[in-house]
Amino acid sequence: MTTLSQHGLGIAPSEILARQRAAFLKEGPPSLAQRKADLRKLKSAILARREEIQNALIADFGHRSPHETAIMEVMTVIQAINYQRCNLRRWMRPEKRQVPMHFQPGRAWVNYQPLGVIGVMSPWNYPLSLALMPLATALAAGNRVMIKPSEFTPTSSALLHRLAGEVFGPEQVAVVMGDAGVGQAFSALPFDHLLFTGSTEVGRSVMKAASENLVPVTLELGGKSPVIIEPGHCIGHAATSIAHGKLANAGQICIAPDYVLVHQDALDDFIGAFDRAVRRLYPEGPLSDQYTSVINERHYDRLNALLDDAREKGARIVEVGERSADAGRRAHTLAPTVVVGTNERMRIMQEEIFGPVLPVLPYRDIDQAIAYINGRPRPLALYFFGGNGPNRRKVLELTTSGNVTINNTLMHYAQEDLPFGGVGPSGMGAYHGIEGFKALSHARGVFQQGKWNLSGMLRPPFGGIARLILALMLR
Ligand code: NAD
Repeated sequence: MTTLSQHGLGIAPSEILARQRAAFLKEGPPSLAQRKADLRKLKSAILARREEIQNALIADFGHRSPHETAIMEVMTVIQAINYQRCNLRRWMRPEKRQVPMHFQPGRAWVNYQPLGVIGVMSPWNYPLSLALMPLATALAAGNRVMIKPSEFTPTSSALLHRLAGEVFGPEQVAVVMGDAGVGQAFSALPFDHLLFTGSTEVGRSVMKAASENLVPVTLELGGKSPVIIEPGHCIGHAATSIAHGKLANAGQICIAPDYVLVHQDALDDFIGAFDRAVRRLYPEGPLSDQYTSVINERHYDRLNALLDDAREKGARIVEVGERSADAGRRAHTLAPTVVVGTNERMRIMQEEIFGPVLPVLPYRDIDQAIAYINGRPRPLALYFFGGNGPNRRKVLELTTSGNVTINNTLMHYAQEDLPFGGVGPSGMGAYHGIEGFKALSHARGVFQQGKWNLSGMLRPPFGGIARLILALMLR
């Protein structure tokens, strides 16, 4: 594995881990006051660098909407830190548990202990918030942290490295830079827990590497998140929310709506409404300051190849939104596009799209839409637009996904008090909310026995009292 010498530390990641673990054992778990102070320092450092963060993202993406960066990269993390600071005292409190009658008098409780050193691996689509959110959660739970950010966003990753170095000592928080090879070696380190955010494919090999050391993992992965629009629901309202969810960060969001299921009678209405919604959101078209580019040429080519493949296999490609300006004038910028007439042989219906391209599929009735979703890998998010009636109940009861937002897109992510995560191929475990604190803590159950209790009677030599207790207990 590479060392950190190029960043002035000159220490191999395995050595950083050893030092962090030694410091953790020496200093013990941090107090509530210490954790709150760490979170405050992190928050101040992020807020002080807001402009630097916006510029780093522009440098990495070619163009990234500064407002989107402020909302999705900065605001989400600040809100999470505020929420953690407010709730930490309650989360850290020992939890009283029940003691059965035959163990009375006695007391049982759960202590949430820090695990030790948490490894965090993050992707390029939100290179700061998807590293900083796990960092804040790990610090709230009293841990030390090593982060391996993505190599696809070198300016943001370097900023993260600087920020961490300025706020924390390397024995508390360290950032390890490098490519997929460094990622492989990183995932093989014997952390106390590894939180990986990235693709399902890489998640699989990360879990394999972690299993060698029996390192528990939280996997925040991707997938194809569907939208169902109930027959009769206001198509304009749904189209506006879906356009926002699909085109923010140019669709490069793990929970972006991947495709839409709309009733067959409303298909054309939806495409018209989606077109109008895109024009309202980006009146200057894809060269708008608010519209983000695809991360690099490789992903731009990947998306065009998905469109070519769909076109060749018979799909209709519909250009939507303002098109007077040529998107090609800005490097790797792809204009919003709708695809209709898809089938399962098309790669666009097999792979996570992760770009501003929206397949729209007609359905006959809600059961068919549910069957379509259930015939595919369990998604990270599911969106339902409709009323509070039997269709909604059916969709919620009969499908499974990491999370759900009803009558909007993306917004479950911003609910601090909800767990966020996937299920099956879209992920394992969850963070955010108290679930995040618990995922990065060890729930240590403690039982304290009173001086006198019945369990002492269940020892040899067994006699009449043991028989009586057994008769009572085995009912
Ligand atoms: P990726 O899996 O390619 O990379 C993620 C991290 O793993 C990076 O730091 C990378 O350097 C490292 N890596 C790459 N190959 C590796 C290997 N073989 N072994 C070990 N480490 C390796 O993901 P990406 O392209 O950066 O991000 C896009 C994917 O992430 C999409 O699938 C998206 O849905 C998913 N994602 C999920 C969430 C979530 O919260 N569930 C959030 C954002 C993105």
